[in-house]
Amino acid sequence: MYPTSEQEQQMLLHCAHARYTWNLAVEQHAHWRPGRRSAPGFAEQCRQLTEARRANGWLGAGNADVQQQALKDFAQAKNAKFTSGFGEPTWRRKYVHEGFRVVGTDRVPEFEPDGSPKLNAKTGKQVMGRSVVVQKLNRRWAQVKVPGCGWVRFRLTRREPPQAKTFRVTYKNNRWHIAFAVIPGSIDAPGTGKLIGIDRGVKITAALSDGRKLNCPQLTVKEQAQIRKHQRRAARAPKGSDRKTVAYATVARLKARETDRRKDWCEKTSTMLARTCDLIRFEKLNIKNMTASAKGTVEQPGTKVKQKAGLNRAILAQGWGLLRRRTEHKAPGRVEDVPAPFTSLRCSACGWIEKKSRKSQADFVCVSCGFACNADENAANNVAAGQGGISHPRQSAGAGGATAVISRSSVREPQPTRVGIPLPTGGGGCQTGLRSSHESTAGVPHSSVT
Ligand SMILES: [Zn+2]
Repeated sequence: MYPTSEQEQQMLLHCAHARYTWNLAVEQHAHWRPGRRSAPGFAEQCRQLTEARRANGWLGAGNADVQQQALKDFAQAKNAKFTSGFGEPTWRRKYVHEGFRVVGTDRVPEFEPDGSPKLNAKTGKQVMGRSVVVQKLNRRWAQVKVPGCGWVRFRLTRREPPQAKTFRVTYKNNRWHIAFAVIPGSIDAPGTGKLIGIDRGVKITAALSDGRKLNCPQLTVKEQAQIRKHQRRAARAPKGSDRKTVAYATVARLKARETDRRKDWCEKTSTMLARTCDLIRFEKLNIKNMTASAKGTVEQPGTKVKQKAGLNRAILAQGWGLLRRRTEHKAPGRVEDVPAPFTSLRCSACGWIEKKSRKSQADFVCVSCGFACNADENAANNVAAGQGGISHPRQSAGAGGATAVISRSSVREPQPTRVGIPLPTGGGGCQTGLRSSHESTAGVPHSSVT
């Protein structure tokens, strides 16, 4: 969005009001303890808002819809706390969580899905719904009515301005954005029966099972050097100086560019996958656990904290989660998760799992059958086959030739109980027949059991 400076002032005021109302709601709910009366719901909060607007001139001067929609956002966030992944709604901070929702002011007749006009059950009158007021100016530009600001111009990223009831305005990194509340339709499957497995990594963001390697664009070396330069300048500038502010703003702009690139790549890649593949398989990653800090506690500080932080940054810069999420949005029901363990160590030709097969970061040569392949492609093939953790004992020599099995697999998965073979009775806890990988390597050789 490109508001004029007066419009920008008004929109920042809307942001402040929305944030204030949201934080009041958070405070009300934070006050609750077992035994106290339950915190007010949306309807009660709206009633209280009306009272508060009457009592406080400055709040009453703001837009009622903007304030009420902040309460509605809160109610929705509260309802979705177990499903959204964000948990309990928390404080909104100035400069960080700036934004507000606007309800359209235009009235349009509503229709049933079959096309007949929607009628009020009591009065029998036509139901009138809300719609945002958007005007297309030319191929690139359109304008939208924002309360208190009049027409605000924005760049179109779609051919036609959408039919929406509400829109959300956000302010981040010194930029205004508008998002219309429309759920776009999903992309149709091509119907070719094409199945693809995707192995996500740090070196190669997404290795596809058909051999393609897709990389998420990062900042260039030059841009990274610029970030470091301006961070250094900011650190050396006196506190509260203009120089410090300018240096930090430059850093923020460069970092925002990296985020933009990542998002753009994820959007394009997920659309490509949804358009060209019938079934898309990802390995199941718990990114939150993978990127946990190694800091530890004061009493027990962790080791290699800086290195782990660097790896975490590299993982998060790949946009693994976003790619998976957006693909699911665009191709609902056509995305599957495959258990991740050993997808990178399993031979996709014969199924043998062996640490030594992975010769280096890039090369995979199976020690069992001699199958040689790029390591990421091999992993992607495993993901496509839907197999990661399940080891399949070799039946015969694979296509790559007959190399004798040199040793027991070093990373065997827990094996099922074999009928007729007494299990080594250790602590009596082996009734399930599951042995850890450590036991299987150091345990009794197979021949002596039989
Ligand atoms: Zn093999």
